[in-house]
Amino acid sequence: MTDVKPFWQNYIDGAWVDGGAGRIDIANPGTGEKLCEHALADAADVDRAVAAAKRVHMSGALADMRPIERGRLVQAMGHYILENMDEIARTLTLEQGKPLWEAEIEVKGAALYFEYYGNQASTVEGRSIPLGAGYFDFTTYEPFGVTAHIIPWNYPFEMTARSLSAALTTGNTVVIKTPEMTPLTNAWLATAAEAVGLPAGAVNILCGLGHEAGAALSSHPDVRQIVFTGSVQTGIAISTAAAKNVVPCVLELGGKSGAIVHDDADLAAFENDVRWGIYFNAGQVCSAMSRVIVHESRHDELVERVTNIAKSLSVGPGIERREFGANMGPMVSEGQRDRAAGMISEAIAAGAVAVAGGRKMNIPGAFLEPTVLTNVTPDMTIANEEVFGPVLSVLKFRDDAEAIQIANGTPYGLVGGVFTRDLDRATQAARQLRAGQVFVNEWYAGGVETPFGGYGASGYGREKGREALWNYVQTKNIAIKLKG
Ligand code: NAD
Repeated sequence: MTDVKPFWQNYIDGAWVDGGAGRIDIANPGTGEKLCEHALADAADVDRAVAAAKRVHMSGALADMRPIERGRLVQAMGHYILENMDEIARTLTLEQGKPLWEAEIEVKGAALYFEYYGNQASTVEGRSIPLGAGYFDFTTYEPFGVTAHIIPWNYPFEMTARSLSAALTTGNTVVIKTPEMTPLTNAWLATAAEAVGLPAGAVNILCGLGHEAGAALSSHPDVRQIVFTGSVQTGIAISTAAAKNVVPCVLELGGKSGAIVHDDADLAAFENDVRWGIYFNAGQVCSAMSRVIVHESRHDELVERVTNIAKSLSVGPGIERREFGANMGPMVSEGQRDRAAGMISEAIAAGAVAVAGGRKMNIPGAFLEPTVLTNVTPDMTIANEEVFGPVLSVLKFRDDAEAIQIANGTPYGLVGGVFTRDLDRATQAARQLRAGQVFVNEWYAGGVETPFGGYGASGYGREKGREALWNYVQTKNIAIKLKG
């Protein structure tokens, strides 16, 4: 039994409303049971949300506000989130599965985006361009207007916070399409917007099916900019819809990221990188360390260490895992769990060996054993396709060139890592890795301040950091002819 309210609505134009497409059941992946129901938006709901956001944009209520004041509102949303952290984190764990302590990290991370971007509102400055005595020329940055944010289920609260905070900071209005499996916590972003005094219609949040509400939103003629995180296939559908309206997109489409572990690496320290890199959020992280590419001389030692890490994790319902520690929750759904288990079976049939885990767990809920696969070769499907689960593939290399070749050998290019005590080797690898972000001697090194995004099939555009602010503004040049 949980005390989650039985029915959740969408938030359009400052009002909580039912959905034109009915309702969807939200499951608790920690038990496999139904948690509650959520309103499901249809194209007409999307239309109303976009109209509300457009009206607020045209009114100038946000776009014309002094940026430092707008930034204050954005920062206040972060404070509101922290004030409600316990309830948000609990709901997040119940709908998404992650241990409670991980949910708290996600909620605090979300608040940090509002602090970071809100703080920079008045730093989005133009410049003056010299054209000689006859002219005065300057640039300004203007918001696009209505921005659409299509959110994945793995970090539903933090991903929305990431783009919402930057979009509001720069004076845009927002329509959010929440993921259909984990829509609940986004409700606190609506109440945050209301609590800090944003005008009704500035932030609209609706849950709907991807091919219905998602497609209606990404093809809407009044949407001026789109942010998407999720699968490659959906990214292509969204950017195709955007192209038809000549609208820019930011696409963050996952990865198959590799950590190169050299013969001089500190393997004791690396255990911690594995713990976080592939078992945090049960591996459902776009920048997960899904491959370890280790020098053949350290292979056996590394395998022993990572196997011990995988076997040491206590796996069970996230709501019972309140403290930071050696534990892991379920995957988001039985469907995602079965997909990952199927990829493991296929890899074993192709010659991989499961030295830890490899199977679904025989308890209710969407549980998969923390898994380590050895004997993985670069040609195998498991070495190229995103599992999006707690599954680590270990590959071997003989020399530095081969390590880079394996690391760069997938269509993706989100992040990469190199573990060595040799600065020259680390710097060379950092240059050669085809990825938007490189970690040296610590997986996930960086933060809200560091730009994040992909090369290749991992997408384009950057989120986080200063870079992300430029996603939400367009440059206007103003040239003034001076008299005489
Ligand atoms: P998805 O890409 O289908 O869904 C992500 C979001 O896009 C959801 O909100 C969904 O409703 C929406 N969507 C789906 N089809 C749409 C369409 N035609 N137009 C507009 N919006 C649409 O991802 P999924 O089915 O939830 O997961 C499948 C795989 O995607 C996962 O196994 C994983 O490999 C990958 N994934 C990656 C990330 C990431 O962070 N990069 C996040 C989630 C999923």
